[in-house]
Amino acid sequence: MKELTPEQKRFLLSTIRDVPDFPKPGIIFKDITTLLNNAEAFTLLMEHLQSRYEPMHLDFVAGIESRGFIFGAALATRLGIGFVPIRKKGKLPYTTVSEKYTLEYGVDEIEIHIDAFRGKHKRVLLIDDLIATGGTAEAAAKLIKKVEQELVEACFIIELGFLQGKQRVQKLCPVYSVLEIA
Ligand code: AMP
Repeated sequence: MKELTPEQKRFLLSTIRDVPDFPKPGIIFKDITTLLNNAEAFTLLMEHLQSRYEPMHLDFVAGIESRGFIFGAALATRLGIGFVPIRKKGKLPYTTVSEKYTLEYGVDEIEIHIDAFRGKHKRVLLIDDLIATGGTAEAAAKLIKKVEQELVEACFIIELGFLQGKQRVQKLCPVYSVLEIA
C-alpha cells in the first residue's frame, strides 16, 4: 500500500470544510464537496484507496447512501469490480433485505437488494465518507453478513474518533479510516 505521508493527510484534511450547526445546532458537519471539487485531493485519495485495496482481491465495493456512493463507485471502477448501493428504506426497487438502527431520536432503516452480490461468500468492502457513532456502518455491516457475504473491511474517509464508532464496527470486521479527527 502507498501510505499517505503526514503532509498528504494534512492536505486532504485542509480540503474538507467544517460547517457549524448543520443540520442542527451543535453539529460540525464535515463537508467533503470541497475535497471532491479539488482534483489534486480527490485523485490523491482515490490513488491511496486503490493501492490499499488492490492486493485484497475484493469482489465488490458496497457504499452507504449517499456520500459512500461517490467514493465507493469511484473505487470500484479503479479496482475493476462491481459496486453495490446500501440505501435508506424505500429507495431500492427490487426485493430487499433490511436492518434497523437507532438514531439519537428514533429509528432508521437501511436496505440492500437480496441479489446485490450475484451469489454468496463474495469478498466485500464497505465504504462511507464518515464514521461518527458507528450506528449506520454497524447496520450496513450486519446487512452484508445477513446476505451471506464475506465482509473484508469497512473503510471511512473521516473518523470522528471522540465518538468511538470504530469500536462498534470492529466487532464485525476490520476498520480502516484514512483521516482521523481525535
Ligand atoms: P453514524 O451512524 O453516527 O456513524 O453517522 C454516520 C453517517 O452520518 C454517515 O453516513 C455520515 O455521512 C453522516 N454524518 C454523521 N455525522 C456527520 C458529520 N459531523 N459530518 C458529516 N457527516 C456526518
